[in-house]
Amino acid sequence: MDKAHIAYFKKLLGEDNAYFDEAHRRAYSYDATRKSFLPDGVLFPRDENDVCEILKFCNAHQIIIIPRGAGSGFTGGALAVNGGLVLGFEKYMNKILEIDLENLVARVQPGVINSALQKEVAKFGLFYPPDPASMEYSSLGGNVSENAGGMRAAKYGITKDYVMALRAVLPSGELIRAGKRTIKDVAGYNIAGILIASEGSLAVITEITLKLIALPKLKKTAMGVFDSVQSAMNAVYKTLSKGVTPVSMEFLDRLSIQAVEQKFHKGLPTDAGAILIADVDGNVKESVESDLAVLKESFKDCNAREFRVAKDEAEAADIWFARRNCSQSINIYGTLKLNEDITVPRSKLPELLEGIEQISSKYGFKVPCFGHTGDGNVHTNVMIPDKNDEKQVQKGHEAITEIFKLAVNLGGTLSGEHGIGLSKAPFMKLAFSEAEMNLFRAIKKAFDPNNILNPYKMGL
Ligand SMILES: Cc1cc2nc3c(=O)[nH]c(=O)nc-3n(C[C@H](O)[C@H](O)[C@H](O)COP(=O)(O)OP(=O)(O)OC[C@H]3O[C@@H](n4cnc5c(N)ncnc54)[C@H](O)[C@@H]3O)c2cc1C
Repeated sequence: MDKAHIAYFKKLLGEDNAYFDEAHRRAYSYDATRKSFLPDGVLFPRDENDVCEILKFCNAHQIIIIPRGAGSGFTGGALAVNGGLVLGFEKYMNKILEIDLENLVARVQPGVINSALQKEVAKFGLFYPPDPASMEYSSLGGNVSENAGGMRAAKYGITKDYVMALRAVLPSGELIRAGKRTIKDVAGYNIAGILIASEGSLAVITEITLKLIALPKLKKTAMGVFDSVQSAMNAVYKTLSKGVTPVSMEFLDRLSIQAVEQKFHKGLPTDAGAILIADVDGNVKESVESDLAVLKESFKDCNAREFRVAKDEAEAADIWFARRNCSQSINIYGTLKLNEDITVPRSKLPELLEGIEQISSKYGFKVPCFGHTGDGNVHTNVMIPDKNDEKQVQKGHEAITEIFKLAVNLGGTLSGEHGIGLSKAPFMKLAFSEAEMNLFRAIKKAFDPNNILNPYKMGL
């Protein structure tokens, strides 16, 4: 990197907040994809004004900027694929600025960790529902930029459903405000809506105003065991069509059940086709009990061979253990996991799972599936036995392409929560027409005419 540029950043931010040494560059070169690209430097803005100055300078000198939260992204969004400077918020811009108890709103900086906000608002009997499995370490800036979802999405929605307003800095260095602290706001284009899931490609988010709701007082966990994965999928939409929306409805298929059992010996039914785990919540005992009764009836209608409600929290944790540990357990099936998070309308889940079984047989790979069936989001894992065998890896990618096509043909999407980033960029043309891609490119150009902000991502 140009010495004059390094001198500028060190003067602007101080020696301790602008790093260009090998150790820092390496530390910020990776994310959860385990791919690594060395950035030219790492900057820690102290406040919004620093962000404005950094972007103004970078725009004038054509320097790439990559905003970064906790680096837990699964698609390479925070990777410096073509060099540039990583902008980190964990050092200073990590404060909960306000919890407004009158309007049920929280105002936070982008570096706040999701679970830190959850814990803080719970002290006031309030609830911030989006709970990605990475909530203990992923940042709210990263959550907004990826539109993260979680286990509670079926009932409570995802990040976008809670973002009321954003402050963000454009690549030009200008500050914009998008959205309001109001339930209704129809004035102007929905710029906050465009920034959500924009993966750091349009503007740097410097402040987030989030909607909070009341924390439900009661929760119950139930589990159903099914002989076939299709029966379990039918049970999902049968429950929903009876007007009951569980907080979460998660599933494990047979391969996932067998993997967890092989690793942890929990006494899971290894001959079952699928397990469904559902939480229902509320404030009134009778309404929670009535939801459980509907759940039981729907599961039985779909031939569940077992239906069990946890007696207490310990038993609930035991039920959830299998779901929480399946991602790591399925590694017994291969040395490389091609893991995608396709999503389809919930009524299409049986067809999706059937199609995946066919693709699995056609290519000869094990494809364990689990995930958030309550919102139609299935984690499909094409397991490659030997990651060093190029032919196997190539075949695995072909299988993934077929899985994407299947999801799109069923009216679904390439990604329910992990975003596009680098990993899914080549598949964008499966899901979007040329006219739609051109619109994305025009939006990118309007925000970032010099292409300095996280370029070469999202297939743009
Ligand atoms: C074990 C594990 C489990 C996971 N489970 C889930 C899950 O259940 N649901 C889910 O949705 N995701 C999940 N993820 C993926 C990941 O945690 C989410 O995508 C998360 O939102 C990323 O947050 P982050 O702070 O790590 O962001 P990063 O990975 O650092 O960045 C993600 C993207 O956001 C951009 N960005 C970050 N901060 C800003 C900012 N202030 N302004 C503009 N752009 C910014 C980056 O440029 C990048 O494109 C999981 C990941 C792991 C490793």
